[in-house]
Amino acid sequence: MIVQVALGARAYPIHIQAGLLGNAAPVLGPFVRGNRLVVVTDSQVAALYLDRLSAGLSGVLIEPIILPPGEATKDWVHLQLVVERLLTLGVERSDAVVALGGGVIGDLTGFACSILRRGCRFVQVPTTLLAQVDSSVGGKTAINAAAGKNLVGAFHQPAAVLIDPQVLATLPARELRAGYAEVVKYGLINDADFFAWCEANGAAVLAGDTAAQTYAIAHGCKAKAAVVAADERETDDIRALLNLGHTFGHAFEAAAGFSDRLLHGEAVALGMALAHRFSAHRGLCSAEDAARVDAHLAASGFEIHPAVLGLATNAADLIHHMRQDKKMSGGTLPFILSRRLGESFVARDVPLGAVEAFLADELADVKRP
Ligand code: NAD
Ligand code: MG
Repeated sequence: MIVQVALGARAYPIHIQAGLLGNAAPVLGPFVRGNRLVVVTDSQVAALYLDRLSAGLSGVLIEPIILPPGEATKDWVHLQLVVERLLTLGVERSDAVVALGGGVIGDLTGFACSILRRGCRFVQVPTTLLAQVDSSVGGKTAINAAAGKNLVGAFHQPAAVLIDPQVLATLPARELRAGYAEVVKYGLINDADFFAWCEANGAAVLAGDTAAQTYAIAHGCKAKAAVVAADERETDDIRALLNLGHTFGHAFEAAAGFSDRLLHGEAVALGMALAHRFSAHRGLCSAEDAARVDAHLAASGFEIHPAVLGLATNAADLIHHMRQDKKMSGGTLPFILSRRLGESFVARDVPLGAVEAFLADELADVKRP
């Protein structure tokens, strides 16, 4: 199946099909130059999938750039390494570099390609669920700086995206679940029917059912493509809705020191639960809607009660982390809240004091199932 990202001259296709990685010639063939394809990846993904990619591209020399796995790779050092290596390999503006891996490889490679000779093309081949439904589509690329995550980057759309759901078979269960939070997010933003699909099929997605995973990925890509086509650079409120759960979640990620204690998707799930409970608390959505969100996230294995995480933090500390957000303006932050299940909106008038009081209550209340 092909999902189009409708961006005029920068439009591109997302190809989604089980088994595609080993049969990539029809998609990647047009990007091969001089029988060669440069592929940036990490060592874990390389060991699992570089041969499979190569096998389907007979006669093509794969030139791999293999980086260490992990968030720490998204830094200046590895950016420089990739850019210098691409220059040494003689990659030209009209060439396309393949990013094979999770969001770390996609973000770093995309940014390197945005600055190489003032911009060369690249193709995203995402191998985590998070990257397949979120980071590989939309053209946000970045590295981390000492001052914070994703602070140095560019908008640079890929020339194509190739997604093979079968690669999720080797993804650790915890990483798969973390990516699933971003799937559920699309239902909660503006699609109550898709949230109901998640309630019925989320367990199959998490259990490795390829058909359910393929449906979830295709739906996520369609939803993200629609948002990106309507608001490529987050200038309206449309793309901002994708931040549902992220403002609350980011504060907990920061409190956990961006460590393995709390993966990004786990923080987003917690954040989405909190955004709905806060919305109910302010009389914006019903308590029943918030409880339904809680129930599905908890059934999917997410921790939805911050007190249970046992992080050394408090409400004031969390608000301090929120204040570092790039979106701070006029002393407060836009919060993505809910009117009812599947109807999120951007609220710009939320006093941070109200958020702090809410978080203090949440942290004092150790709920266990
Ligand atoms: P990741 O890239 O670190 O991958 C997670 C781990 O899984 C890595 O150790 C990797 O080696 C391994 N892995 C990848 N594919 C595998 C597979 N098929 N089988 C086995 N192991 C595999 O993490 P991620 O969650 O994919 O991405 C997180 C990054 O994405 C963050 O840096 C975040 O900022 C970024 N992000 C960007 C956007 C965007 O719009 N650009 C959106 C969301 C997140
Ligand atoms: Mg996210």
